[in-house]
Amino acid sequence: MADMICKQCGESFKPNRGRRHYCSRACYRAAMLEERGKRLTERFWSKVDKRGPDECWEWKPTLNTDRYCTFSIQGRSYKAHRIAYQLAIGDIPSGLCVCHSCDNPVCVNPAHLWLGTHAENMADMMRKGRQKTWDKDPNTKLTPDDVRAIHRSYRRGLVSMREVGERFGIAARTVSNILSGHEWAWIKEEAVAARAAGAERVKGATRS
Ligand SMILES: [Zn+2]
Ligand SMILES: [Zn+2]
Repeated sequence: MADMICKQCGESFKPNRGRRHYCSRACYRAAMLEERGKRLTERFWSKVDKRGPDECWEWKPTLNTDRYCTFSIQGRSYKAHRIAYQLAIGDIPSGLCVCHSCDNPVCVNPAHLWLGTHAENMADMMRKGRQKTWDKDPNTKLTPDDVRAIHRSYRRGLVSMREVGERFGIAARTVSNILSGHEWAWIKEEAVAARAAGAERVKGATRS
C-alpha cells in the first residue's frame, strides 16, 4: 500500500488495518482530544448571546431558568464565565478568581473578564458597592424571584448553601433561613404548594 499522510502530524506513514488516518496511537489520541475540544467550544458558545465586542454577552440558559450560569462537562458543572475565560484566554492559575469588569454576573464576554485574587475581587466589589461578604447581609437586595431561584436551585441538589449564598451575595445562614422558611416564608409556602400540585398531577396522570 502507498504511504499515507498522518492527519495529525503530517508525517507520511505505512498504513495498515489498524492505522488508516494517523501514524500512531498518540496522533490518534491527540486528534480525538482536539475534536472533543472543538465540540465543547461550539456547544459552549451556542449558549451565549454574543453581541458587539464591548457589550455584555449574556448566558442564554439564565434567561428562562435562574441566575445560575453553569455549564456542564461530562456530568460536572462549572461556572460559565470561568469556562469562557479558559476557552478564549487561557488557563486560570489556581487560587485566582475570574472577575467581571462589567459587574454583570451573567456576562461571559472574555473582554469583560479579568483575573484577580480573592482579595482583589472583594475590593472591587466593595468599590462598586455590592459588598458581597459573609457578615454583611444585604438581605433586602433579594427580590422574590431571587428567593424562588434559591429554592429551585437548592432543590435540584447541585449546589451547597454556601455556593447559593455566594451566587446571590448573601450569607449561607440566610440561605438556610430562606430554605427553612424563617425568612421569606410566603415564598417557601408558594414553593411547597407548587410541589404538592406537581405531585398531585403526577398521581393523576398515573391513575388515568
Ligand atoms: Zn502522526
Ligand atoms: Zn459584561
